[in-house]
This record gives sequence, C-alpha cells and structure tokens, in this order.
Amino acid sequence: MTPRERIAAALARRPTDIPAVGNAVSVATIPLMEACGRFFPEAHLDAQAMSELAATGHEILGYDTIAPVFSVQHEADALGCEVDWGRRDLMPEVTVNPCREPGDVSVPANVLAHPAIVVVLDALAILRERYPDVAIIGKVFGPWTLAYHLYGVERFLTMTLDDPDGVRQILRELLPLPALFAARQFQAGADAVTLADHATGDLVAPEMYRDFLWRLHAELAREIPGPVILHICGDTLDRIAWISRTGLACFHFESKVSAAKARWAAGDRIALMGNINNPQTLLLGTVDDVAAEVELALRAGVEIVAPECAVPLTTPTENLQAIVAAARQ
Ligand SMILES: [Zn+2]
Repeated sequence: MTPRERIAAALARRPTDIPAVGNAVSVATIPLMEACGRFFPEAHLDAQAMSELAATGHEILGYDTIAPVFSVQHEADALGCEVDWGRRDLMPEVTVNPCREPGDVSVPANVLAHPAIVVVLDALAILRERYPDVAIIGKVFGPWTLAYHLYGVERFLTMTLDDPDGVRQILRELLPLPALFAARQFQAGADAVTLADHATGDLVAPEMYRDFLWRLHAELAREIPGPVILHICGDTLDRIAWISRTGLACFHFESKVSAAKARWAAGDRIALMGNINNPQTLLLGTVDDVAAEVELALRAGVEIVAPECAVPLTTPTENLQAIVAAARQ
C-alpha cells in the first residue's frame, strides 16, 4: 500500500498492510522549521512555505500524511477577527473578538477569496501535485470554534446558558463556512479534511454537545464530499457515543481518554485516530515511553496512530519519529 492508500483504508476501517501513522493537526516544531528552512509566521501565510514545512511530517517524521494547516486562525481572519500571526516560537492568536450579539455574525459572500483561506487551498494543491502517493489532510474549523473566535470563549459559553436560541442562530449562520471550505479543499486535492470543533470536555458538558452540535456535525458529515476527521480536545469519553453516530469517518482524540475506552464507546461506527500524549510523552518522555503508548493504542484498535493534538513547538524529532518506528515494529 502507498501511504495514501493506507490512510484511505484506515479511515474506512478496512485492513491495512502495516499500521497507519499520521497527523490530523500540526506537527510543525522548531527543529522541523530549522530542517526545512521555513518558519512561522511565514509558513501560515505563504503557500510555498506552508507546503514545505508541512511536508517534513512525511519526509522527516515518516508519517503517511501531510497536513498543511498549523494554526486555528485562518477562518477567524477571513471572518473579520484581528489576528496576531505570532512568531517563530509563538502560535497565532485572535486579539480582538468582533461580535457581541447573536445577530452580529455573518459569513461574507466572498469569504473563500480571503488570502488566509486561499493560502490553504494553494498549499493543498502544491502538495497534491508533489506527493501523489501521500495522504494530504486539509483542515477546517467547526461552528463552535468559530464562535469562540468571534465572541470570545467566555462570552460565548455564557450565552449557551443565557441565550441558547441565540447560540443556535450563531452556529447555524456559521455552518456553511466549514461545509464550503472543506468542499474546496477536496477539490484542491485533499484526501481527508480535519474538522476541529473545540467542544472540549473541560468547558462543554456532554448534553451541550448533544443539544447544540451533534445535528450540525451530522449535517457536515452528509454535506462534505469526502472523509472528515473530527478533532475535539480533552476528555471526550462522555460524548464519543454521540460523535460515533454523526456519520463522520473518524474521531481524533486525546490521551485523556484511554484508547480502549474510546474504542468501547465508539463501537465499530467510526474510525479512531490519536492518542499519543503530547505534554508528557512526546515532549518530555523517552522513545520507549512513546513505543509503550503506541502499542496500547494499536492493541485497542485505534486505526491511525497520531499525536493527540498540535504538538508543542519544542517536541524532539526523535520522539515524533518513534511513533512510526514503534507502529511498524
Ligand atoms: Zn486538540
């Protein structure tokens, strides 16, 4: 199997020749920037730089995937938030949340022509042409994360209690953006698209996922023309059974959920990707620590072994490579 075939099979829960290893979110680190000579913040805003830094995930780490979106801010910029694109050693962030009331939000008609969106589509097209046999993974942000950017996390979470109908209006208004952007990413050459929607276990109760988001994620699963990998941070065990019934192809989950429990909650309804711990194992652990976690994930039936979330910028390259070595053993 080529890496591209392997990831396609794993996302469809079909057998693979050897275990699939990949990333649905950023593996860009300072050592990888130094290795390819492409650095943040240029790599967020220039398609050539973005594609070259992303390709280190395959060229240097040996993963079956290349995923060229490193931050969470592309759609935020296109929707009118003020974005500080950061530095070499600092991820971008939104500095001004422009919305106050539910009626404040609107998706501009020409949003897909915004430079922060076009750079992603161009990078995907460059990678598709350069790597015909590697799985190219796009990324869009779901309506919950977009609302965090537009309203600020605190204001938006307060609205879920004070004005649930207003929250539904906001999410409904934002839903076309991930649907359209994902469709364009598949046209540009993506094999799968990550849908990051940060209804995280520590901030959002499982009933909130069920009542506000579950139907919207199911709609995205039907509308987006290709496999979608949902990423939600934190302890998500209490909502995996819901997530597994969205129709999405794959759930990318963190190490706060054990792989065995995630498999139990997901049943055979959805592929699983993850869940190698970032802050302890990949950042500070040894190659043997990484190998032990990889074995647990594979034994539990995780289809694609991967770092649990965007890796810290100083993660040692040998630990990221150790995921592949351990999985292939
Ligand atoms: Zn995460």
